[in-house]
Amino acid sequence: MDTLIRLGVFVGTLIMMMLWEARAPRRQLRYSRWQRWPINIGLSAITAMLLRLSIGGIAYFAAILASEMEFGLLNMLILPQWLSLVVALISLDLALFGQHLAMHRWPLLWRLHKVHHTDLDFDVTTAVRFHPVEIILSLVYKVIIISLLGAPALAVLIFELILSTSALFNHGNIMIPVRWDKRLRWLLVTPDMHRIHHSSTQTETDSNFGFSISIWDRLFGTYIGEPALGQKGMKIGLSQFRYSSAVTLKKLLLMPFKP
Ligand SMILES: [Zn+2]
Repeated sequence: MDTLIRLGVFVGTLIMMMLWEARAPRRQLRYSRWQRWPINIGLSAITAMLLRLSIGGIAYFAAILASEMEFGLLNMLILPQWLSLVVALISLDLALFGQHLAMHRWPLLWRLHKVHHTDLDFDVTTAVRFHPVEIILSLVYKVIIISLLGAPALAVLIFELILSTSALFNHGNIMIPVRWDKRLRWLLVTPDMHRIHHSSTQTETDSNFGFSISIWDRLFGTYIGEPALGQKGMKIGLSQFRYSSAVTLKKLLLMPFKP
């Protein structure tokens, strides 16, 4: 709660100062805001992400605790260290694939997750567009899975790094030559593959749930290779939120709790 208050006051003051500066500047600025603001705001966003990562440390702590208490499947089995690591990484990725699927299938969870899908464009910033309650729920789920699995702490650390890197990558509005995309896609979820998940067409929204490796969608029959309207013709976002002015930050935060 205190974090929310601090963040609220910080953002509120920042916005007020920006408005003030715009109305009554003390000096003429020499450089375009467009040049400097993305850098400055980007830096503060990184700090915010690091804070999120430190709270994310709970998952790492759960792994250490489970190992000390010899709790969880992998802590009971005597496996070579490398094998425990591989099994844990694959199981965690599958668990998150399952979570994402549940987010789409269960109406109550969809209320939270649809916030991510209301983005009408698709770029790297879409990767951090999640309702805070979904982030907290994901963390609780991850702690439960890690404990039951008895995942090694190192695996949890590696997994978190893979997850954040691949989420930023697969939401990228970046051009990868089609033949490279095809090759990459045999192993990884590429931006062209994940973009289809952000399509306005329901069947396409309910496809390509994977985050890092592409195998789960092929295995569970939720893989779509190309959007019906093509990568350039497809519409992004949910059709009921087509008018971007209708979606404000406040509305997004309240969205899951509205009927
Ligand atoms: Zn989704």
